[in-house]
Amino acid sequence: MKRIKFILTFFCIFSLSASIWAQKDGSQAYNEKYSKKIIYTLTDEKFRGRESGTPELDGVIKYITKEFRKSGLEVTHQCATDQELIHHIGEPKPGKKYPAKITNIIARIDGKCSDKYVVIGAHFDHLGYKEGLGIHPGADDNASGIAVLLNLARMIKASGNTPEYNILLCAWDGEEKGLLGSKYFVSTWGEESILYYMNFDMVGRTADPASPEIVFAWNNNFPQLLDHCKGAQAKVPAPFEVIYDERTGDGKGGSDYAPFSKKNIPFVAWMEVELHEDYHKPGDTPDKICWDKLKKANLISYWVIYEWIFSK
Ligand SMILES: [Zn+2]
Repeated sequence: MKRIKFILTFFCIFSLSASIWAQKDGSQAYNEKYSKKIIYTLTDEKFRGRESGTPELDGVIKYITKEFRKSGLEVTHQCATDQELIHHIGEPKPGKKYPAKITNIIARIDGKCSDKYVVIGAHFDHLGYKEGLGIHPGADDNASGIAVLLNLARMIKASGNTPEYNILLCAWDGEEKGLLGSKYFVSTWGEESILYYMNFDMVGRTADPASPEIVFAWNNNFPQLLDHCKGAQAKVPAPFEVIYDERTGDGKGGSDYAPFSKKNIPFVAWMEVELHEDYHKPGDTPDKICWDKLKKANLISYWVIYEWIFSK
């Protein structure tokens, strides 16, 4: 009897501590120092502006892969040759060529439901080195999005819960060459298994650092997305301003959410308010990032994802 009592007490203490552990607030794991480290590393001269198809990009892929793995995620590389791109997404525009190879980095967190996915993505490539102009560091475009993605990996892990659905955190290649990585992914992945898509592209700059503006673009065929954002906003300390940008899910758009939109997948895209003067210029450097905006965009998006993955 004593033994049973002991086992029962042990079991109760164990399950109590397990439930306390399970209630951890993953948003607390946001780390500004980590964001800075990622953005400064990705914009380092040694990567020469991260152009798809260059030898320097291999180093970038290695770095992002290592960071995902350090957070305890399983990582695979989805590679496609130029011929595979032609086969799956069609010929390049006249006068343009695909890189010989692209590589999407796909980090995974398993959920309870094995056949449904929440996909979160940001592109890691940029414009590279241009004769007469020099290296394009692309701090906002899109080292900022990769910083959010890598922080989210840590935050979701830190929440201590098993999500309802599988999560894929995807770092896309070839965005600047025509959304190649995300187009290839969508054309080769069963779209009916994707519940939601979230995109980050240029989330680090603001005209008003005292109350940063954050754009929430969403597919208006799914009104619940707006509720998810409003609920998430309420959990993040002010001041900031969310600008709602209603989209129709018609496949239009200049970033990696477009291929998902074309399939009318419920999507949300965090992006720039309006193109700043350093857009696609060598002046897109890390010292101009507004760290407070990056943090707030990261926190709001975490709570939207929380809604997607922890409620049925
Ligand atoms: Zn971009």
